[in-house]
Amino acid sequence: MIKTELISKAELPTKYGDFFIYAFKENDKEHVALVKGETRNKQVNVRIHSKCVTGDSLGSLRCDCGEQLNASMDYMGKNGGILIYLDQEGRGIGLLNKIRAYALQDRGFDTVESNEMLGFDQDARDYSAVLEILNLLGIRNVRLFTNNPEKVEFLRKNGIKVIRVPLTVKPNRHNAFYLETKKLKTGHLF
Ligand SMILES: [Zn+2]
Repeated sequence: MIKTELISKAELPTKYGDFFIYAFKENDKEHVALVKGETRNKQVNVRIHSKCVTGDSLGSLRCDCGEQLNASMDYMGKNGGILIYLDQEGRGIGLLNKIRAYALQDRGFDTVESNEMLGFDQDARDYSAVLEILNLLGIRNVRLFTNNPEKVEFLRKNGIKVIRVPLTVKPNRHNAFYLETKKLKTGHLF
C-alpha cells in the first residue's frame, strides 16, 4: 500500500520569502512542500509542481516548468500558501527517458508522440501523495494554481474543495510548440 509519511520540517529562507519546508517519503520518492503562513482549516493557495531538473534548476526553455515554479513561489512568498514539489521527473518517466523524448522531439515529433514511441503513457504522473500531504497539513479547501483540469477533477473527486486560478507564463520560441501540444492534446487551459 502506498503511504506518504512526514519525515521532517525545517525553516527555508528563499529569495521569494521565508518558508517552512516539509519533507515527505512515499516509498522510494522524496516529496517536499514549501509552506508559508497558516494552513489548518483555512482556504489555502496551492500549487502542485512536478519536478523538472532541466526547467527548474538548469534554466531550460524547452518547457514552462521553471517559470511556473518561480511565479508560484513568488506568489506564495507574498500571499501565503503552499507549493507541493513532487518527486516525479519528466511527467513521471524519469530524467533519462525525458532526454530520450527530447531527442525524438528534435526530429520533429511532439511531446505526446515521443512519449508514446518510448512506450509510455503521455502523462505517467500520479497525484495520490498530494492527498496525503494536504491531509497531513490539515487542508481541505484550496485555491489551486493550475491550467490542468485533471488536477482539479482529481482533488474534487477526493473531497477537496477547489477554486481554480489560472497560471499564465509567456511562451518563448523554444516552448511555443510544447505549450500548443499541451493545449491541443492534453486539454490544458490557457
Ligand atoms: Zn519541465
